[in-house]
Amino acid sequence: VILSSYVSTLILSRTVVIEYINPKFIEITGYSREEVIGKKPDIISSGTARISDSEWRGEFLAKKKNGDPFWEYATISPIRNAQGVITNFIGIHEDVTERRKLEDQLRHSQKLEALGQLVGGIAHDFNNMLTAIIGFAGILQMKMKKDDPLMVNVEQVIEAANRGASLTSSLLVFGRKQAIFPRPLNLNEIIEKVEKLLLRLIGEDIELKTVIADKELNVTVDPLQIEQVLINLATNARDAMSKEGVLTIETSREEIDRKFIKSHGYGEPGEYALISVSDTGAGMDEKTKEKVFDPFFTTKEVGKGTGLGLAIVYGIVKQHNGYITVYSEVGKGTTFKIYLPMTRPGAGEAASVETVKPAASATGTETVLVAEDDAHVMRLSKTLLETFGYTVI
Ligand code: ADP
Ligand code: MG
Repeated sequence: VILSSYVSTLILSRTVVIEYINPKFIEITGYSREEVIGKKPDIISSGTARISDSEWRGEFLAKKKNGDPFWEYATISPIRNAQGVITNFIGIHEDVTERRKLEDQLRHSQKLEALGQLVGGIAHDFNNMLTAIIGFAGILQMKMKKDDPLMVNVEQVIEAANRGASLTSSLLVFGRKQAIFPRPLNLNEIIEKVEKLLLRLIGEDIELKTVIADKELNVTVDPLQIEQVLINLATNARDAMSKEGVLTIETSREEIDRKFIKSHGYGEPGEYALISVSDTGAGMDEKTKEKVFDPFFTTKEVGKGTGLGLAIVYGIVKQHNGYITVYSEVGKGTTFKIYLPMTRPGAGEAASVETVKPAASATGTETVLVAEDDAHVMRLSKTLLETFGYTVI
C-alpha cells in the first residue's frame, strides 16, 4: 500500500541539493525522481524560498515541469545532528493554487460589491438633482411661449440633463439601486420575444442561433431588465466579431451543487435557469477578463465604448440573486453564463410577457398627499401636480 501524502516533501543536503522527494512531489510537479535528485531546488522555486539556519515559511509561485505556474506554501527547516551542526534541510510544501484562486475570486466580488455601493450612492443623489432639473426645466418649457427666443436654452438644459440622467440610471443599475419589477415568467418566452430585436442589432453578417430548453424555465424576473442583459451581451458579441461569426443563445435548467460552489467559490445550491451567450469573436486575455464588469472599463476607442454594458449586466444579475461567469479564449470566442434562481413550484403561474403601455397624462381636481424625502424632488412633484390642477399636501 502506498500512502499518498497531502503535502509534498523534499530533503536537501547541507549543500542544498535534493536528496529525496516523496510521491506527492512527483504528482504535483510532473518531474520524475531521476530528474530532480542531485539538482538544486530552484528548478521549481526559482530561488524565492529562503534556505538558512533558521526555519522559513512562506508562499511562492513555483513552476511545474511543463511550465505551468502553481502556488506553494512551504516550510523549510534545517535538520541538525547531536552536535547542533546542520546536516540536511527538509521542505514541506503544500499546493495552495486552488485556495489562492478562490481568494482572488472573493476579492474580485468584494471589489465589485464595494464599487457598486459607492457608485450607487453617488448616482442616487445625482438622480434626485437631475429629476429636479429636468422637471423644473420642463415646467419652464411648458409655460413659455413657443416662439420665445430663450426657448432653445431651455431645450439645451433638458437635453444635457437627460444625458446625465441616462448615465446615472446605468450607474444605479450597477449599484443595484434601481427599482425592478420582478414577476413569475417563463424565461424562454423572454428570449423568444427579444430575438427579433437582437437580430437587428447584430446585423446581417452575424448568424444568430437560439437553442431554447424544451421545458418551461420559471423564474421571477423583471423582463425589461433581462432584455437589457441580452442586448448588452449581444452588442459586445457583435463588436467582438468584426465581420462574420455566430452568436448563440442557449437556455437550460442547471443545478448549482457542491462541485460548482467548490470551483467557483460562491453559489447557493439549488435549481437555476441558465442563459448562455456565446460568440465566435476575438475573445479576451486574462487581464481584460478580470476587469470586464468594472464600470467604465472599456478596450474600445473613445466614442465607441462606455464601459457600462457589463457593469449593468452584473448589477441586474445580482439584483435577481443570480450569478454570472465568463469563459474566454483569445482568438476563439467568449461565453457568458447567467444563472437565475428558478421559482419554486406553487409560487404562482408564470404570467405571459406583455408590454405595459404608459398611461395618458391625467388632470384632476383631487387632493394628493406627497411623501418624498428629497426636498427638490418633493417641490417638483408639488409643482407638477398643481400645474395639472391637483391640490397638494
Ligand atoms: P464597452 O462595450 O462599452 O466597452 P462593456 O462593459 O460592455 O463596455 O465591456 C467591457 C469590455 O469587455 C469591452 O471593452 C471588451 O474589451 C470586453 N468584452 C465584453 N464582451 C466581450 C466579448 N463578447 N468578447 C470580447 N471582449 C468582450
Ligand atoms: Mg458593451
